[in-house]
Amino acid sequence: MKKLIVLGLVLCFMIIGLPLAIISTFDDEPIVEERPESKERVRVFINQENKTIEMDLEAYIKSVVASEMPGEFQEEALKAQAVAARTYAMARMRMFGENGHPNHSQAPLCDGVHCQVYISYEKLKEIKSSDWILKYWEKISEAVEDTRGLVMTYEGELVDQPLFHSTSGGNTENSEDVFTTSVPYLRSVASPFEIKAPYYKDSVTISLNDFKSQILSKYKNLSIDLNHFQDSVKILERSSGGRVSEIKVGNLILSGRDVREMLGLRSANFTIESKNNQITFNTIGYGHGVGMSQWGANGMAEQGSDYIEILKHFYQGVEIIEIDQL
Ligand SMILES: [Zn+2]
Repeated sequence: MKKLIVLGLVLCFMIIGLPLAIISTFDDEPIVEERPESKERVRVFINQENKTIEMDLEAYIKSVVASEMPGEFQEEALKAQAVAARTYAMARMRMFGENGHPNHSQAPLCDGVHCQVYISYEKLKEIKSSDWILKYWEKISEAVEDTRGLVMTYEGELVDQPLFHSTSGGNTENSEDVFTTSVPYLRSVASPFEIKAPYYKDSVTISLNDFKSQILSKYKNLSIDLNHFQDSVKILERSSGGRVSEIKVGNLILSGRDVREMLGLRSANFTIESKNNQITFNTIGYGHGVGMSQWGANGMAEQGSDYIEILKHFYQGVEIIEIDQL
């Protein structure tokens, strides 16, 4: 009799419960209003699969914003990210078009950090929780739709380097202080509202010997006396945004960016402490520091700025226009 009851319950579940469970899975999909596709399409090289996909620009931007910025961020910060990502994609499409980027000749954009991170909606569903999808996919989609077709221009030309990074550490950098070229809209500006960022402050401690061997692995001619650390390692100069532009390491003069890359520091804005045969790098900020600080953008949004004010702050002198007006 018991067996029969159990069997009956199992059958009941299969007949009623299972279809309900399946329907409710579908019910859990976020409700995103379908909009017609835009005129613009992008081609993206998917690194891991070694294949190129083509898709609607706006669908691509939704995935980029979801991949590049926390969904928890303010709507206006997500919108600013959408315009920056769309501007970048359009600039790449116009610059490389059918020929593809020199690093991936199949397409002008790739899905990695080399360009801007693109994770498809299907992949996002696999790697994020269903809770995340429900909470944030619709929010991100709306932020993208609200800025549909908008891009940044500087003196009438499409901005081709709308760079962004996680956390500036208080001030962004002039482009020429981090990279080689001076770009008129990539100027050092204050970013005062990002103290909540998880890597606003961080530190890395390594032994002096490890420090020496890391530098030696790139600079074979290094000569350094670790017994006189204070004289051997000295910060000589900082950029206007606070990053180390010149640091003496033994007989070498390196850039803060060099040291950051060799030691895997979060930022080139650091101070140094040394004791007990160890060296500690205390960093401020996360990323190269040029262009829009994402945490700074979120902080501005919390203070009441809209996405246009955010973009015009981090990209000096830009205008925001419809792609069609280009
Ligand atoms: Zn790329």
